[in-house]
Amino acid sequence: MENLIIVGSGPAGFTAGIYAGRAQLAPLLITGSAPGGQMALTSEIENYPGFPQGLTGQELTQLMQQQAERFGTRVQMDEVTAVDLSVHPFKVTAYGDEYEAKALIVTTGTSPSKLGVPGEAELTGRGVSYCATCDGFFYQDRRVVVVGGGDAAVEEAIFLTKFATHVYVVHRRNRLRAEKVFQERAFRNEKIAFIWDTAVTEILGDGRVTGVRLKNVKTDEESTLDADGVFIYVGAIPNTGFLEGQLELDDRGYVVTNRQCHTSVPGVFAAGDVQERVLKQVSTAVGSGAMAAMEAEKFIAELEDRAYPDRTS
Ligand code: NDP
Repeated sequence: MENLIIVGSGPAGFTAGIYAGRAQLAPLLITGSAPGGQMALTSEIENYPGFPQGLTGQELTQLMQQQAERFGTRVQMDEVTAVDLSVHPFKVTAYGDEYEAKALIVTTGTSPSKLGVPGEAELTGRGVSYCATCDGFFYQDRRVVVVGGGDAAVEEAIFLTKFATHVYVVHRRNRLRAEKVFQERAFRNEKIAFIWDTAVTEILGDGRVTGVRLKNVKTDEESTLDADGVFIYVGAIPNTGFLEGQLELDDRGYVVTNRQCHTSVPGVFAAGDVQERVLKQVSTAVGSGAMAAMEAEKFIAELEDRAYPDRTS
């Protein structure tokens, strides 16, 4: 039986691993489909303290993993498909194995939201992408569309100008949600053009993206725009499908926690984007990851005190 299983390998998961490892809990961290989560898919991270020159999400992922392993966290490449939190020790089912644990920390983060328009599903991987870091390179000297107006859309639009000749940011309003520093950088970039108050209503192409159909949401005017790629950044949905019915989720599927990262089930904690509705940053995720690990340590110590009451007298 494991002391502690950490489900998820973004910044919250690895930080929980560092703290729980240092607390001698020898945690098992189950990565999910790929280590690093959304952090690993970010082209450049320049607002995480301690790295004034910035670094790629992949680099930060590797450093965090090394640090967690240094303190005894065992990193297992596998994906959790189900948990049973009605019993203790908790049962954790992954594709590769079944586990039991005294405590659990959920750090499964979020996945990119879909736009939900015709052509999107059919052309995913054929010009439709949710990851500029992964796919940007294929758009050397091409034209691409970025959909969205948040940090991810604007930051990745800037990244795409390394490859593409034209980057069109299509946003449904006339104001960006992204941080000012990203906005100013994007407005200064000659390769980026903004198409305001506009929705992408269809992704066009037969086997490969050739463009998008657009609709101005104020005038209802329709048009088409030729493009070779469409990068979609319209928000995120929490990865909590495997938790449904097991603990309290909010109306959008985020895990409900208190300030100490406790969920509705004693002994189960959640940290990072999976429980963060407002400020999804690497720096906020590491904070809650540390908190969750400390609370898990307390929970396990209390279990042991109950099992061996003489030790507390
Ligand atoms: P956000 O939720 O911040 O932004 C989503 C954007 O997509 C908004 O502009 C929204 O429009 C638009 N949108 C939502 N739904 C639709 C739709 N159906 N059709 C068209 N447009 C739509 O998501 P992000 O992925 O940008 O960021 C997620 C979190 O991660 C945020 O907390 C962000 O701060 C953080 N992040 C931070 C980074 C950094 O600091 N370096 C980098 C990347 C992400 P509207 O504005 O009208 O609501």
